[in-house]
Amino acid sequence: MGIAAEDIERVRAATDLVAVVGEHVALRRSGSRWVGLCPFHTERTPSFSVNPDMGYYFCFGCQAKGDAITFVRETRQLDFVGAVEALAARAGIELRWDNQRESGQRRRRARLLEAMARAVEWYHERLVTSPDGARARGYLRSRGYNGEVVRRFRLGWAPEGWDELCRALSLPADVARDTGLGFVNARNRLQDSFRSRVVFPIFDARGEPVALGGRILEGAGSTSGPGGSPAPKYKNSNASLLYDKGEVLYGLNWAKGAVVERGEVVVCEGYTDVIGLVDAGIPQAVATCGTALTERHVATLRRFAPRIVLAFDADGAGQAAAERIYGWERRYEVDVFVASFPPGVKDPADLARSDPDGLRAAVAGAVPLLSFRLDRLLAAAPETSVEARARAAAAAAGLIAEHPNQIVREQYANDVALRLGVRPEHLLHGQGRNRASGHRAPVPNGAVSGRPPRRGRRLETASLLALSLAVHQPEAVAPLLHEVLFRDPVELEAYRALAGAATLHEAVAAAPPEAADLLLRLAVEEVPDADAGAVVGRLLDEAAGRVLAQMEAEVRAAAAPGDDLQTIGWLKLRVEDLREETTRPAAAEVLLPFLAGRAACEGRS
Ligand code: ZN
Repeated sequence: MGIAAEDIERVRAATDLVAVVGEHVALRRSGSRWVGLCPFHTERTPSFSVNPDMGYYFCFGCQAKGDAITFVRETRQLDFVGAVEALAARAGIELRWDNQRESGQRRRRARLLEAMARAVEWYHERLVTSPDGARARGYLRSRGYNGEVVRRFRLGWAPEGWDELCRALSLPADVARDTGLGFVNARNRLQDSFRSRVVFPIFDARGEPVALGGRILEGAGSTSGPGGSPAPKYKNSNASLLYDKGEVLYGLNWAKGAVVERGEVVVCEGYTDVIGLVDAGIPQAVATCGTALTERHVATLRRFAPRIVLAFDADGAGQAAAERIYGWERRYEVDVFVASFPPGVKDPADLARSDPDGLRAAVAGAVPLLSFRLDRLLAAAPETSVEARARAAAAAAGLIAEHPNQIVREQYANDVALRLGVRPEHLLHGQGRNRASGHRAPVPNGAVSGRPPRRGRRLETASLLALSLAVHQPEAVAPLLHEVLFRDPVELEAYRALAGAATLHEAVAAAPPEAADLLLRLAVEEVPDADAGAVVGRLLDEAAGRVLAQMEAEVRAAAAPGDDLQTIGWLKLRVEDLREETTRPAAAEVLLPFLAGRAACEGRS
């Protein structure tokens, strides 16, 4: 049952782990490895390492580790088979199955994605080339969208006809339904879901099309929805097997690089906002597509940047659930800022057209959520009477009290006190409302929550260096090594697993857990810049030293036969030889069998 073993190996071999991980976190090259923020724990400094050649990752902070299959399992909550399938689909490998049903759900998803991709291209072609797309092209030009924008965002045109897409793609009814591309209407006919609409395809972070957004064209004819109700101006696909609104962020597939580079992501509400922001020179923009920002969105975005700027319309940001956002700031070590737009501006798309400089200024001038809320409150408060100022102070105190951090509360209380001409004590309700909610004490800037990254064993000892070489350059170093050279029990197990396996994967699978951890960690660490001969020389030196000490003790106790003195002399000379580069190889050649033989004798006695 399951996937043929050689297919699993083919998938592993065909998978670029850096690309797979890179879809979740930004990785930077560092020598032969790639490093980034760990997707499995919250951190500000990268402890997560990937070795693309070995196909392994390891986190020095939380000890998360594994290969591409493990990574996909843990980041996408898939079982082993599901993860292999996902990677196989990526690599274009067709898996052989013993049991068809096992893969049913996953085949289904692949089928739906394929239909969605074809639909995106069909709509796009229709927009760009067909005569009936002229009206849509005119509309897009009037919005300032040029051909480059149309191509970049794969915009499309859904024509007016009832079932043009479904017919053109020969979509089976179940595929139409499950992708949201179509539905069976009252006359029992398959009908397109999107008609007379400019289509904005929605891709997931990996760049797979999972949903559509559509904007109706003014004056379009058949605009009613399935129930005959008036068609909404904007319409998005419903949640489906492909589309999870609480997870997907429009534009993230394109914005990832800019988000990482700028350390900031700008979150707005709609796809036209994203396009406007990008057009105004703010490429780090994504949209929630009509839903509120969710914790899952924040967790996803945090992997790419430590700073989130909300570019919602003024009311949207004002009503943002402050307590949730403060909670996210604490939990994900993320800073949430709010861009404030000039009065009368509907949304970023609006401002992008009328005043791109103003849009850039609004994003650049984003302030923390509490600051934004206080500014709005105070801007609306009349400053004429003492009573009005007292009311404003009371309202401000309420906002300040919501913040979980005492230092932050005090700072804002001081600022607002100055502006209102009241004493700061009046703005602090003695204690914050959230005091009892177990927030942690304020930490200095840049401090990392949770455990500090533990580096564990560093490549300081000859044995670790040798093991690392055995992992990275097995052909060069394997013939020089023997288990007698390893004294640390974990290192010994790791060496034994390596020596007994044809590949690193086999060794990791065969090793006891601690030794497997060590092998994975070595796999993602920099290849040591060390000469194999010198490293093995040091190991032999150490091992010979141990034997010498033992033999000399035996001689002193007169428990050893007389010819041991001779052996001791011989051994001392070989150790001297080890320390000279020219004599080292010859010394190593005789020492290794000697040490191994002696260990074997002791093992028997
Ligand atoms: Zn980690």
